[in-house]
Amino acid sequence: MTVIPKLAEQPMENPRICCVCATAQSEFTCPCQRAFYCGLNCQTAHWTKHKKQCVVDLTKKMKVLRNVHGKDHARVGEAHAKIGDVEERHGRHLAAEKCYKEVLRINQLTHGDTHLSVANACISLGNLYNSLGNYGQALELHHTGLRINSHILGERHESIAVSLLNIANIYKAQGHVHRAIEQASKALEIQREAWGGDHQHVAAALTNLGNLYNLLGDTAKAVEMTSACIDMMRRVTTLGDDDDDHSLLANSLSCLACIHMERGFVDEAWPLCEQALVIFRRVHGDKHGTVAMVLHNMAGMHSFRGEFDKALMMHKTNIKRIRRALGNNHQDVAHSLLAIARVYMGQGKKVKALARYDEAIHILIRAVGSDHGGVALAHYSRARCQREMGHPEAALESCREAHRIYTQLDVDISHNARQKVEKLLGVLEALVS
Ligand SMILES: [Zn+2]
Ligand SMILES: [Zn+2]
Repeated sequence: MTVIPKLAEQPMENPRICCVCATAQSEFTCPCQRAFYCGLNCQTAHWTKHKKQCVVDLTKKMKVLRNVHGKDHARVGEAHAKIGDVEERHGRHLAAEKCYKEVLRINQLTHGDTHLSVANACISLGNLYNSLGNYGQALELHHTGLRINSHILGERHESIAVSLLNIANIYKAQGHVHRAIEQASKALEIQREAWGGDHQHVAAALTNLGNLYNLLGDTAKAVEMTSACIDMMRRVTTLGDDDDDHSLLANSLSCLACIHMERGFVDEAWPLCEQALVIFRRVHGDKHGTVAMVLHNMAGMHSFRGEFDKALMMHKTNIKRIRRALGNNHQDVAHSLLAIARVYMGQGKKVKALARYDEAIHILIRAVGSDHGGVALAHYSRARCQREMGHPEAALESCREAHRIYTQLDVDISHNARQKVEKLLGVLEALVS
């Protein structure tokens, strides 16, 4: 059973939580600046665990190996991979990209193009490009990894399931939900075959599928799968376990919260978010994208309750966090701006809202292209704002653009959205003519 410290004891911003005893505002920090301690005892106790996560220490070790063996040696590659994993875990994607590219280069050089280590390097880099919104390159790398792994390990190996889930995630980000469900279902089948009932990997496939069914609007199936995953993770996870397991539990908690929230059940969603937040902060640190994601959802709940000031404050600190972690041009920045715009709409500050809609659309188009469902939704929201400001012509233009995208989009979540857009389009055309 997982022990989850109380959120109420932690301030929202930079809580400096001791890695060992969870004391907030801890004074001491490791030279890597990513681990806080209340004192020397906790720091010493934590070192054997932290040194595997400490970029400063890992970089020192990599440099020693490089001096001894030269820059192309397999062991230097392994050392780069460890640093890359830590950088990515902490949301420093560009630093991680540099490491993973070096790993791929070294592995291809020392093992040839069809070695398992090359597949692993492709998968790490592919996941990274997915987080950065570079879906084309991400898919290509995952397919290369999948090809190598199924050739060497067979079609039903658990690593194939992991790759299929990664590919499902990319399809999901692109809006191809049915295609994503197909891949994730295959993955679940392989994992059940490999592990039987209770296992982290089965749980990971379940929570992915739950999330996808939610996107399709199949709430019952979504709740069922996500809850099954949470129960399973609570049974198999203990506090001393691998960070990935805790992260998986937090992820499922956050998914279930989103499902509740979309149905307006804020009171059920809120405590799930709190639990997820505490776990993500402990595992990834306060600056990580997962923390930003949960805070984004919690701010949305404030908004839903009409607590606009609280919502706005949270979104504003959060967008800084997202910009630091992912850069200014990531689609998450745009989603945060859209949420801020919605809060301004709630407060009746339409001019401010419109400026955020414009900025968000600009970023989104650069991040995912002009024909993405997310862009269409942003155009639709802007159209509603423009209409309320008394600019029906501008609103009509925005609404037409949303309609154009939804009509030609071959994705699975656009049906309901298109109906809403068509309704507004009718109203605006009548207003303008
Ligand atoms: Zn402590
Ligand atoms: Zn450190």
